[in-house]
Amino acid sequence: MDGTAQDWWERAACAAPGVNPDVFFPPSRAPKSWDREAKRICEACPVTVHCLRAAFDASGAHGVWGGLNAWERFKRGGPRPPCDSHNGRRV
Ligand code: SF4
Repeated sequence: MDGTAQDWWERAACAAPGVNPDVFFPPSRAPKSWDREAKRICEACPVTVHCLRAAFDASGAHGVWGGLNAWERFKRGGPRPPCDSHNGRRV
């Protein structure tokens, strides 16, 4: 193991103490900028590539992974995003 592929989540910026995991998932009636804080955290994350690859491999990935929300991943060839049952928007 090279210390990057299998244990990437241990170095995730979102796993740091004090990070609110809720910011990575859209609230009901989410405003257009709901993912701003999550993306700010992802920008400083050392394992963004691993995270994004995992999101592309996981058809049910929801919220922000690798600095992209589900719709942005879909536009780049990722799995179709879930539909937000609260407001009918893709998130
Ligand atoms: S890229 Fe973002 S969502 Fe992925 S592990 Fe890093 S901080 Fe978490």
